[in-house]
Amino acid sequence: MKASPAVEVINLLADLGSNFDCASIYELDRVLDCGVEPSRISYGNTIKKAEHVKYAFEKGIDLYATDSEADLKNIAKHAPGSKIFVRILVQGSETAEWPLSRKFGCHPNMAIELLIQARDLGLVPYGISFHVGSQQKDVAAWDDALAKVKYMFDWMKNEEDIKLQMINLGGGFPANYISEVNPIKVYAEEITRYLTDDYSEEDMPEIILEPGRSLVGGSGVLVSDVVLISRKSHTDLTRWVYTDVGLFQGLIETLGEAIKYPVYTPKMETSTSKGTVVLAGPTCDSTDIMYEEAGINCHKLEIGDKIFG
Ligand SMILES: *Cc1c(COP(=O)(O)O)cnc(C)c1O
Repeated sequence: MKASPAVEVINLLADLGSNFDCASIYELDRVLDCGVEPSRISYGNTIKKAEHVKYAFEKGIDLYATDSEADLKNIAKHAPGSKIFVRILVQGSETAEWPLSRKFGCHPNMAIELLIQARDLGLVPYGISFHVGSQQKDVAAWDDALAKVKYMFDWMKNEEDIKLQMINLGGGFPANYISEVNPIKVYAEEITRYLTDDYSEEDMPEIILEPGRSLVGGSGVLVSDVVLISRKSHTDLTRWVYTDVGLFQGLIETLGEAIKYPVYTPKMETSTSKGTVVLAGPTCDSTDIMYEEAGINCHKLEIGDKIFG
């Protein structure tokens, strides 16, 4: 849902048979309003208010992510009997353009404890999830994560007689922006190989994927106006181009120039000028700068021109 909450996208994916992962009750309401059955929806955010768990459960959601004891207890109380998957910490932040691995997930040892506790609280210890980081360029990141998952599946079976049923491979599948990435087919082939190496056909768990940007990254164009163009002194070669969108209007992933979105203006095609252009947003926050190092070619732009990204 995070990658695009557009109703058109939800409806199309619903018709194609997709399931949905929600991070909030607001996303949940939107998917339900599109007519998607609760059995096709998970609550994948590990950070949730007790009242929101209760709300989701009342709407029929019975599949929840967790990575902490306090959240697990909330789920046990407000969504009794539900299926639980525990998110683990994984590597991959060096090769992901937008890492998602520090804030979410717990150490596999703690994940094992949580799954056992889930059973003891009357929940279903259902599976394990991870996210190797968004725009993940190294397919082997899944190999490392799946090795941890395999260890956990075996441990749970042998030590606790708990048969986990599901692996959630998260997102991380790249969209086609500017930097070169492998086609999705390569990801599919490699990850399938990792899985078939680890599990026989009859033991193959249910596999959930949560592709976000790779599915919908190309479904929208952000159109902005050039609000102002200036230089900091008469001799300064750097041209500042301020637009009416920035980090606080949907472009947070340009922070540190992490994600390099394609930027287009018709005037680029005829421009031959050199010199630095800084592309910045309109707010009064000085971190609101999108691109400085990326070498955006906007020399011919004038105030009032449109930029497409
Ligand atoms: C953001 C997110 C995704 C989608 O990730 P992409 O890398 O954008 O495909 C999937 N699962 C969870 C839990 C997320 O937070």
